[in-house]
Parts: sequence; C-alpha cells; structure tokens
Amino acid sequence: MQKLTVVKMCMVGREQPPYPLVKRLARGSSSYVWTAVHEAFLIFAPWSNSMRIDILSAVPRLLDSWFSESILQRAQQKGLAEVKVHDLRVWSTDKHRRLDDYPFGGGAGMVMTIDPIHRAITELRSQRQYNEVIYLSPDGEMLGQSLANQLSTKGNLILLCGHYKGVDERVREHLITREVSIGDYVLSGGELAAAVLSDAVIRLLPGVLGDETSALSDSFQDGLVAPPDYTRPADYQGWKVPDILLSGHQANIDAWRHQQALDRTRQRRPDLLDSTDSDPQTTFN
Ligand code: SAH
Repeated sequence: MQKLTVVKMCMVGREQPPYPLVKRLARGSSSYVWTAVHEAFLIFAPWSNSMRIDILSAVPRLLDSWFSESILQRAQQKGLAEVKVHDLRVWSTDKHRRLDDYPFGGGAGMVMTIDPIHRAITELRSQRQYNEVIYLSPDGEMLGQSLANQLSTKGNLILLCGHYKGVDERVREHLITREVSIGDYVLSGGELAAAVLSDAVIRLLPGVLGDETSALSDSFQDGLVAPPDYTRPADYQGWKVPDILLSGHQANIDAWRHQQALDRTRQRRPDLLDSTDSDPQTTFN
C-alpha cells in the first residue's frame, strides 16, 4: 500500500516513472522503498524549507574552506542549505576560554567540560527547533548511505565535534539525541567527521547537484556500487569507451549499467549483496 502511494507520487510531474525506481521497488527491500520515498521528496522539495546545520567546534577554522568551496558553497548560495560553524569558546565562562579539564579518576588526556556545550546547545535550541543533536564519536552509529539519506530529510541539525579525549559523558547522556561515527578509527577531533556527514547529507538535498536524480544513481543508493562512467573522447589513444554507451539505445544502456553495477558489487563489495533481502540478479532479470 505504502509502496503504491510512493509510485503514484513519483509519477506526478514526470512523463513516466523513472526506470530505476520501478526496478528498486520490484526488489521489495525496505531500503529500496526508502529510496523511492526520497525520490518523491526530490520532486516535492520546492515546497520544503532549506536545511540548517550548526556545527559546534573548539577549532572552527578547520572547517572554513570545506564549506566555502564547490558544491557545498553553491548549496548555501542557492539557499538550499545553511551551515554555521560556531566556536565553542564563545560559550566558555573560563577566563582563558578553556573548554577542557582533567579527567576524574586520573589518566592521560583532557576531557571537554559540560558547561560551554550546554550553553551553546541551549542557546541554539532557543532560536529554532532541531531534529537531532549529533555527537560525532568513534563509538557511534556508523555513517552509511541510508543514515545520510535519512538525515537529508530533516530540517535542522546540531553537530558537536569532540576534541582531546572527548566530552564529559553527561553531555552524551543529557544533551545529545544521536551519536555518529565515520569509521572504526580515531581522529583527533570531530571536525572532519562533521564535514563528512554534512557533505554526504547536503549533496542529497534537491537542487544541490546539477541533475536531481544524480545522487540516486550513486553507489549504495540501491544496495550496489555504481557502474563505470566515461566521457569524451570516445577513443583516447586506443582506449575505447564500450560500444553500448555510444549506441543511443537507452534501455540497453540502463541494462548494461545495471549488470556492471551487479558485477562490480559481487567483485568488490559482496557484503552488500548479502545484506539485501532479495537477490538483485533474480529479481531484475
Ligand atoms: N577517547 C575517544 C576518542 C576521542 S577522539 C575514544 O576512545 O573513543 C576526539 C574526538 O574526535 C571525539 O570526541 C570525536 O568527536 C572525534 N572523532 C574521533 N574519531 C571519530 C570517528 N571515527 N567518527 C566520528 N568522530 C570521531
């Protein structure tokens, strides 16, 4: 029932339902249904508000260039996303604007104190509603495409970057709604993780990429890695583009791309095929 509704929504304003969408729905996995929901979201997005991300950091300058170049800059110029990087020291009442202190119980490293973080989050929350207050942390929920998809449908996010040994545990207990990791390794601060998360989310917002469906054909969106891409020249010193891509026959090209995506996934990321609830080969052929 839910799937049917989604298909109908996607047909609005388009001459025919997009081929990959119908295929995704045929697979009957929840992630494919989600992709369809997202595709519907892309169509209706003109009526939705832009996303706002507030990043709380002890070293805000680290993020300056990330958000002032390329796609993320354009997203902000077009009013599709707004990213504010805040210096946590602004909320420190310590005369030296310190944000850390020694750990109770001893041990190496410093711990970020609660008060500046509490003040920062309280002030931001008094200005607008936030859907999530996310602490970037190596032991958090692993960032994957489905989490990025999910977060891209939210309105406002706060991202808290830790430093030193991390934050006082009571911040996590009382002020945070979600914890996200970008991988099983430890960085020296949460800024890179916040940049990775923001990038993965913002590029999904309608209008940010030139072609709105582009993000949906990227790796992981339908449980497969992406097929190979080629551009001009068709023949570079004898290295040729596959003939099928020059054939002009769109259905055959789509089928070829899908087969390439399947073959690559089997070869490079068989774990993705294991984790789906139906075999793409049998469902698609
Ligand atoms: N003592 C912590 C590591 C602190 S690293 C531990 O052992 O788990 C300092 C900060 O960097 C963290 O507070 C977090 O905000 C950020 N960080 C480090 N690795 C990260 C990762 N893999 N994903 C997200 N954030 C990370």
